Amino acid sequence: MSESRTAARPVIAIAGLGIESSTFSPARTEAPAFHPSRGADVLDRYPFLAPGEELREAADWHGALVGKSLPGGMVTAAAWSALTGELIDRLAALPRLDGLWYDIHGAMTVEGVEDAEAVLLERIRATVGPDVIVSTSMDLHGNVSRELAHRSDLITCYRMAPHEDHMETKERAVRNLVDLLASGAPRPVKAWVPVPVLLAGEQTSTRIEPARSVYAAVEEVEATAGVTDAAIWVGYAWADEPRNRAAVVVTGPDRSAVSSGAERLARGFWEARHDFDFVAPTGTFDDLLDEALASRHRPYFISDTGDNPTAGGAGDVTWGLTRLLERPEFQKDDGPTVLYASVPGPAAVDTAVAAGVGATVTVTAGAEVDDRHAGPVTLTGVVHAIRHGDRDAETEVVVRVGSVYAILTRRRKPYHHEHDFSDLDLDPRSADVVIVKIGYLEPELFDMAAAWKMALTPGGVDQDLARLGHHRIRRPMFPFDRDMADPDLTARIIPASDQPLTGDDE
Ligand SMILES: [Zn+2]
Repeated sequence: MSESRTAARPVIAIAGLGIESSTFSPARTEAPAFHPSRGADVLDRYPFLAPGEELREAADWHGALVGKSLPGGMVTAAAWSALTGELIDRLAALPRLDGLWYDIHGAMTVEGVEDAEAVLLERIRATVGPDVIVSTSMDLHGNVSRELAHRSDLITCYRMAPHEDHMETKERAVRNLVDLLASGAPRPVKAWVPVPVLLAGEQTSTRIEPARSVYAAVEEVEATAGVTDAAIWVGYAWADEPRNRAAVVVTGPDRSAVSSGAERLARGFWEARHDFDFVAPTGTFDDLLDEALASRHRPYFISDTGDNPTAGGAGDVTWGLTRLLERPEFQKDDGPTVLYASVPGPAAVDTAVAAGVGATVTVTAGAEVDDRHAGPVTLTGVVHAIRHGDRDAETEVVVRVGSVYAILTRRRKPYHHEHDFSDLDLDPRSADVVIVKIGYLEPELFDMAAAWKMALTPGGVDQDLARLGHHRIRRPMFPFDRDMADPDLTARIIPASDQPLTGDDE
C-alpha cells in the first residue's frame, strides 16, 4: 500500500465494534464473540467495497479492526480492553488518514464503561487526529449520546426494522464520506434532538404503523436541499444508561434545513408515541398455546420473546420449554407436532451425539447462564437429528419428547431461516406449532407462518419493560411516565468534531 496520497484518492480507515448487550441479562460477552476481521480482511465484509466497485476505487481503504457479535450480555472489561487496544494499535500503524468509517451498532454496554461507542471514538480521534472526517453508521436500535454525535462528522442508521437495509445504510454512510472528502466542503452541520421515548424493538417495526409513516418522513427530509442525511434511532430498551432513548440527527451543509428536518422527525416520533404497539398480537405463553391448539392455521408460530438471543437474551432460559413439556397435549407421540428452538446444553448435546440418531436419551440442558426464571430442564426422548459445524451453535441436536421436537445446541443460536430447521430434518411448514426464541419474525419465517403471536415471557429481554426495573435512564421518559408533559424537541446544533463540546449534557 502506498504511503503517498493524492487529492483524487482519499485515505480512509474502517473500524468499529458492534453488539447490542442487555444489562438485564446475567450473560457476559467475551472477545471471540465479535469474530473480528483485521486489516485487508475487513473489506471483505462489504460487497460495495469489493475490487472494481466504484466506492472501492474512490479511496485507499485500510481495514483496522471490525467486529460484530450476536446480541448478548454486557461486554467484559477484559474483552473491551483487548479489542479496543488492538483496534487502536492497528489505526496507529496506518498512514495519515483523511477519513474514517466507524461501523458500529450503538447499543454496546461494557463493564465499567459508560457510553462505550463514544468513549472508543474519543480514543480513535486521539489516535488519528482531529482533522480526520468520521462517518458513523449504526443500527436504529443504537443510542446517540450528545458525545457520540459530537465526535462524528456524519452519522446515520438503518431505516427498516427488520433491518433489510443494513448493507444499503453502510454503503450510504461510506458514500457520504467519500463525497464529502471529494468535495472539500466543510464539516456538515449536525442537528440532534433527543426524544424521551424508550420502546421495545417489537413495538417499532417499520412494517406497520406508526413506525412506517414516522420512518417514511426520513427520506423526505433527506431529499430537502441542504440536507445530506437524516436518521431516527429508536434506541435500545434493555440497557440502563442515561443515553438509552430515541434520538434524531440530521446532517448537511445548511443549518436551517437540518434543524427544521430534525425537528420534524422528532415531532413525528413523539406524536406517534401512544400508537406504537407490538408488531403481532401478544399473550401469555399458556394462553397462546391454547389458541394455537384451537386454531385451524398451520403452522402457528409463537415467539418466545423474553429470551430472544438476537436482542440480547442469554438464550438459555428454560422457562418456555419447561412449560411446553408440562402440557398434557404433547406427551403422546401422535400429539400435535411442536418445534421448539432452542435451548443450549453442551452436556446434553454430547450425550445425544454419543447415543446417536434413534437412541433414547435422558439429558439436562439450559439455565447455566440465566436460571432466574426456571432451572435446567431434563428431557427423556428420542434423538431425531444431529448436525455439526454451525457457526453459532457448533453442534445442534433434536430430541423428540412425545410430539415436541426440542432443538438443543452446544452454544446459543438464533433460528431465523427455514434451513435452520430443515438442516435438522424438521419441516416447519408441516408442523402444527413452531415456537422460536425471537421477537418479530424474520422475513422467511414471517412468510411461512399461517398465524403468529408473541408470548410475553420472562428473560433478559423481557418485552414488559416496566417489570425490568430501569433506574438510570433519564426521566421523565415515555412510557415509564405515560402522562409526561411535551418535551423540548428543538434541534440542538452539535459543535463540529474539531470544536469543543460546550454546555450541559441533556
Ligand atoms: Zn436492530
